[in-house]
Amino acid sequence: MIAEKLNLSRAALRPDLAILTMTGILEARQRVGYFYSGKTIENFFAEHIKKIKVKDVKGVPIIIKENTSIYDAIVTIFLEDVGTLFVNDDDEYLAGIVSRKDLLKIAIGNVELQKIPVGIIMTRMPNIITIDAEDTVHHAAEKIVEHEVDALPVVVSIKDEGEKGVKYKVIGKITKTNITKIFVELGKTF
Ligand code: ADP
Repeated sequence: MIAEKLNLSRAALRPDLAILTMTGILEARQRVGYFYSGKTIENFFAEHIKKIKVKDVKGVPIIIKENTSIYDAIVTIFLEDVGTLFVNDDDEYLAGIVSRKDLLKIAIGNVELQKIPVGIIMTRMPNIITIDAEDTVHHAAEKIVEHEVDALPVVVSIKDEGEKGVKYKVIGKITKTNITKIFVELGKTF
């Protein structure tokens, strides 16, 4: 019937119908034929977005030590061309985060930047907002918006029998830049 309406042969339509069925826009039933599944392009967009995992798009984190000087942290921000540095303790577990503005704030004061360690100014555990590699990028974006931060460390949780509960190893990062790039790519697809 569709072929008739469009004045085309069934054979000519078959590849298009196959694509529409594969993407879920049409459903095919034996004897009934093809019918519209009722899904809108917005449904597909939402479904697609929620399938993108943090582990598929995470970036390389730049990690410094707690005793790195503020001066060296600022140099690292420029050299590595990033906005956020992750700070590890001596056992290579996540201890804190320093952002551009954390560094600016201390730098505009009249202090000796070479002598002060980042450990003094960083945002510390347990106040760090993290994300799991298996989580969706959509969830990461929600956390970024909710907590008003530019970046989240992608972490593996390691159970700690001590007082602190859980410790984290940083294995990546999700940033606003990251998410903007995904947004641009999605715009090309849909
Ligand atoms: P900026 O301060 O350059 O605007 P952010 O908005 O990312 O960058 O940082 C705001 C504050 O939140 C800073 O004090 C920073 O140390 C802290 N911060 C950054 N990322 C996180 C995070 N993932 N979890 C908790 N605190 C964070």
